[in-house]
This record gives sequence, C-alpha cells and structure tokens, in this order.
Amino acid sequence: MSHGDFEGYGGRHVPEPLEEPLEQLANAYDEIGKSDEFQAEFRDHLAEYAGRPTSLYHAKNLSEPYDAEIYLKREDLLHGGAHKINNCLGQALLAKKAGRERLIAETGAGQHGTATAMVGALFGLKTEIYMGKKDVERQKMNVFRMRLMGAEVNEVTRGGEGLADAVDAALEDLVENVEDTHYLVGSVVGPDPFPRMVRDFQSVIGEEAREQFIDRTGGLPDAAVACVGGGSNAMGLFHAFRDDEEVALYGAEGGGEGADSSRHAAPLAAGNDDVIHGMKTRVIDEDVEVHSVSAGLDYPGVGPEHAMFREIGRCEYTGVTDDEALAAFRKLSETEGIIPALESSHGVARGLQLADEGEHDTILVNLSGRGDKDMETAAELFSFE
Ligand SMILES: *Cc1c(COP(=O)(O)O)cnc(C)c1O
Repeated sequence: MSHGDFEGYGGRHVPEPLEEPLEQLANAYDEIGKSDEFQAEFRDHLAEYAGRPTSLYHAKNLSEPYDAEIYLKREDLLHGGAHKINNCLGQALLAKKAGRERLIAETGAGQHGTATAMVGALFGLKTEIYMGKKDVERQKMNVFRMRLMGAEVNEVTRGGEGLADAVDAALEDLVENVEDTHYLVGSVVGPDPFPRMVRDFQSVIGEEAREQFIDRTGGLPDAAVACVGGGSNAMGLFHAFRDDEEVALYGAEGGGEGADSSRHAAPLAAGNDDVIHGMKTRVIDEDVEVHSVSAGLDYPGVGPEHAMFREIGRCEYTGVTDDEALAAFRKLSETEGIIPALESSHGVARGLQLADEGEHDTILVNLSGRGDKDMETAAELFSFE
C-alpha cells in the first residue's frame, strides 16, 4: 500500500471515480498545504479567528486528592468551543487555494457541520451539510446555527437516517461534483490524504502544549491523555510527543453504558481489523450497536494511525463508560468551574484514573471542547433536587 500507509493500516480503499480526485487533493496538500506561505496564512487564521494559542491550565483543585499534577490543554476556549476549528480552517484554506468553490461535509450531532459552516462563511465558500433526518430532528439548534451562517443543510432520509447515511450522501455528491467541491472530512479518518492531513492541521495542539509544559515545569509530562472518537484531537496532541519515549500516551474511547458491555464505541480497545470509509483500520463489529453518551465518540471506526499506535504499543487505549465520563464531567465542573464536553470528559476520567493509580507525577489531558452543547443531555441524566 503506497498511500498513507500506517504499517498496513490506512490506505485509499475507494471506488474508481474517487481515486483521481483524492490523488489531486494529496498533491495539493503536499505542494500548497505544506508551503511556507500557506502555513503562515494558516497560523494567522488560527491566531486571529480561532483564538490560539490556547492556555495550558494547571488544575490544582482537581489534582488535590492525588499524588499527581493534572494539566489541561484548553481547546474548549477556541472559537466554536472545540478543537474542530483547527482542522476546518486548514482544509477550507486549502480548498480555496486549490480553486474549489464549494464545501460539503457530513455531520452527526452537528458539531462538525457547525465548524464547517463557520469556515464556509469566513472564506466565502458555498457550504452544504449532509445530516441524517433523525439527527436533524434531534439537533434543531445546531441546524439553525448552520443555516444562520449561510450553510445549506440537506436532510438525508435513506437507510437508518443517521451519520453513516449522511457519509454516503456526501460521497455521492463528491463523485458528481469533483471539479469544484471539497469534502471537508472531520477527523483523522477516511482515505489518504485525510488521516495525515487532518493530523497535521491538528498537531498545533501538541506542539503548543509541549512547549508550554516545558516552559511551565522545565520538563515533559509523564503522561498525555485524550478522548478518541475518530481520533483527531488525540492525534493532534500525541503527535508532538510520539518520539518522546518517556511520555506515556493514553486514549479514552466511549465505553458505552458500563453494565452492558455489548454496547460500546471502542474499536481500538474492542474491535477488529477491517475496511471502512476508504481506510483499513480497527472497526466495531456491524452487529454491535455503537453507543456513547457523547455523540462525538459514536463512530464505529477510528483513524488508522491510532490503529498503528495500538499495534506497535505506542499508546494504550481503554474504554471509558458513560458513568465514569459523567462523574468526571461533574468533578471538573465542581472543582474548577470548567464544564467539559462529554467527549472530553472521557479523557478527564482516564486522567483521574491514572492520577489515582499513582504511576505518573504529571498528567496532561486534552480538554477537546466545552460542555455548553451538552447541558440538555446532562439535565436528563441527573438533577439537583
Ligand atoms: C468531535 C469531538 C470529539 C471527537 O472527535 P475526534 O476526532 O476524536 O477528536 C471530541 N471532543 C469534542 C469536544 C468534539 O467536538
């Protein structure tokens, strides 16, 4: 396998009509996307539009009961409230430079669709979002948000009317409109060049965090932790540390509802090798219902570079249950006045487990997003009466 090969994972497993446009995109990324001019412009947008650098926060209250110091990389402070904007700015800028006039994307809960709508407005690109009918009904506010920013939201009524059907609809659109359209993929998933390109656009997270950590403490963290859906915030954090063997890496997947272990979204901890959405990676069996309290971790596959990290033992991946994530969600809110996204709460939960185990003195957790979007879900799960 020549394209995007992560020790046998990854690749470009796509139908014939998509081979040529993906090759063009890979060339555009290698030639334009890696140029100094592009990188300078990208950094300007990250600073001025998205609000980088984000702070590295020493969570002293959260760390208090443990013999470990927990630090949070505050991606929740970015425009839009999560790390997704890093990738969307990179891909939209590349699409514009490569002469594309139109962005398409699929979205489940609506977070990636919203981030895509932002950059569509910013760069003056026509933006269409594919979303399953079920998700459109469940996520009315996000649909409203996308439309407010000028994006068209296409309701997908085929199949199960969910995320997988939205992916299919977006791919069909791409095949018909390859000349003027860029498919803005939301994580380190899909065929080459997406896994490496999205990783590179997100790697600013780890580059900043590594430098900030050294400035603050004089050394590297003993552990770096992130939640894993498709795997983009995790790979964005991990990449800067991959050659620092003294930094242990931990990925936290959605582990479903705990008591019923047949329901999980943990392809790394509990899946098998397979081909899905154009890549070879770790995939959850088809007959297992993928479920996590956080919509952003509800993906049956995972980025191929994570599959490789698992295979070579560079990162340890564990399923975190809904209950564990919710406990961390409440703990961080109560102790620090920071409400994390439910996705990010899985990473916080894993960080707290590690602090409790006491093997690492310093633990860096990527706080991938803020929890404002999750208030309704949380209010259904517990109350204060
Ligand atoms: C979308 C999302 C995720 C999951 O995506 P990754 O590609 O795994 O990073 C995690 N956290 C937040 C806040 C998200 O919005």
